Amino acid sequence: MKIFTPILFVCLLLIACQAGDAQQQETTVDKTLTEDSLKQVTPLPTTDWIQLAKKKGFDVQYIMGNFDPAKHPDFVLVDAKYADRQGLYLHKETYNAFLEMYKAAKEDGIKLIIRSATRNFNYQKGIWEAKWNGRRKIENNKDASKAYPEPEARALKILEYSSMPGTSRHHWGTDFDLNAFTNEYFEKGEGLKIYEWLKQNASSYGFCQPYSPKGSERPHGYNEEKWHWSYLPLAQPLTALAGNELKDNMIQGFDGAETAKKIGVVEKYILGIYKDCRPD
Ligand SMILES: [Zn+2]
Repeated sequence: MKIFTPILFVCLLLIACQAGDAQQQETTVDKTLTEDSLKQVTPLPTTDWIQLAKKKGFDVQYIMGNFDPAKHPDFVLVDAKYADRQGLYLHKETYNAFLEMYKAAKEDGIKLIIRSATRNFNYQKGIWEAKWNGRRKIENNKDASKAYPEPEARALKILEYSSMPGTSRHHWGTDFDLNAFTNEYFEKGEGLKIYEWLKQNASSYGFCQPYSPKGSERPHGYNEEKWHWSYLPLAQPLTALAGNELKDNMIQGFDGAETAKKIGVVEKYILGIYKDCRPD
């Protein structure tokens, strides 16, 4: 027994080392698999969301805003008394939910004003190209075409707050901007009261703030927008459908579109939303 003990010890040691090697290898393989599957699987929604989207009549052309909301049977004109101007449209289900929320807010002394609602592809193309070509200044009154001559850097700069045509949630009739376009407005006084109310109550009416603060929870996508709210019963199936069927190479038809694939706009910007607004 005594003679065998050292041999047994060496054998055990060898087995342990090999097991360690195998574990090491397994860890490496697993990591690769996880990264790959994250790329492919995370954006993929459940088939239930896709089915729901199709039942609602949504398709890729709808997602990309290739329709006129004024002529779409599911869209309604927003009464100007809820907005800062005439001529805004929302999907009728979004609008009905908004009216319920508006009423409840009013009873609590909060006045909600829609500042922007549905913007189709052509409308967004107007905004994007004006910024791309410097006709409309970006923050600090900068001309993006001069400040960022390199296309990808320029696109990323504009993408801090504006969507590429074809990738905006404003195409969907599910999203609107409320009261003011700066986070500062919602951080004090009347704005803070409005934001606190929305944080407390909007979810009861189906609304969610997709562009929450950027950080470890939301590493990609647009900067925080306290004014932008989304109607989840429609937006979740639409997000799911976009994750499954919309590809970066379909994003085209405007100046700077060639940067879409390199940036990965579908994954980073369409799917880069606050976790509670996601379809999974
Ligand atoms: Zn918005």
